[in-house]
Amino acid sequence: MYLALCLYGIALLLQALASLISLMLFRHSATIYRWAWLYLSIGLTLMLGRRIVPILNVLETSHFSLVDASLSVPISGFLLIGVLGLKKLLVRADDAQLLMENLARHDPLTNCLSRTEILYRISEEINRSLRNKHAFSLLEIDIDHFKFVNDRYGHLVGDVVLKNLVAFYQKGLRDIDILGRVGGEEFLVILPATNESDALEITERLRKALQDHVVARVNHDPIKITTSSGISIFNPEQELDLIHKDLANKYFQQADLAMYQAKQLGRNQSFIWKDY
Ligand code: GH3
Ligand code: MG
Ligand code: MG
Repeated sequence: MYLALCLYGIALLLQALASLISLMLFRHSATIYRWAWLYLSIGLTLMLGRRIVPILNVLETSHFSLVDASLSVPISGFLLIGVLGLKKLLVRADDAQLLMENLARHDPLTNCLSRTEILYRISEEINRSLRNKHAFSLLEIDIDHFKFVNDRYGHLVGDVVLKNLVAFYQKGLRDIDILGRVGGEEFLVILPATNESDALEITERLRKALQDHVVARVNHDPIKITTSSGISIFNPEQELDLIHKDLANKYFQQADLAMYQAKQLGRNQSFIWKDY
């Protein structure tokens, strides 16, 4: 009798643990498979009755079946192992998803934000700006004659220049500014709560600091680069085109046009987009 009680007790413990784990996973899992954990938790919790009833029977009537008691242990044990296996699988799936999201959000070479992510952040900034009525600026930067760097030193050195340039900007920009790579040697910077004159000041400060900065060295040969920048200002008071389907692209395009103006004017300078 004590052996049967002991076996039923172990089975109850194992199954209660399986039930508890699935309840915890229900609370922490993503919405798409939450319902599966909910039903599994309910099922396992209800099945606890199958472990409690025989214990009560043994205590009340002293009747027991050692075969049933022996079987209850592996049944509950296997349920627990299955739940633990599913937990491991879900943790791995969540990690893989996080990794994929992180990869999609970042540029693999320079580790600043990717083109998709920076465009998304512009949309977010536009919504914020429309809410709080603070203008913000968008800055597009393109390296001047970058082809020469690649042609002279090779693509690997060109890659190092791009990485070091991102590090240079990340150091020089404010914490609130957001940097992304939108093309080979083209970058976008969101300057939140920044009006036209402040944006020009920040852009010029960076441009002037960069022209004197050694971005990489090849055999002690210092490499310096210059950039051309285009600035567009999002002014929530003036933005009447609120139903414009893609405001982020509209302002990106304005910064791009301004950047090409800076190139045409002789490079190594900044130009503010104006709606003439
Ligand atoms: P401009 O002043 O008119 O901008 O001239 P540019 O040479 O910078 O511009 P162009 O568009 O003619 O060339 C851009 C170069 O950037 C060509 C390409 O080899 C290089 N590039 C693009 N992506 C990468 C990259 O990931 N790594 C390296 N090393 N080079 C890249
Ligand atoms: Mg370019
Ligand atoms: Mg260029």
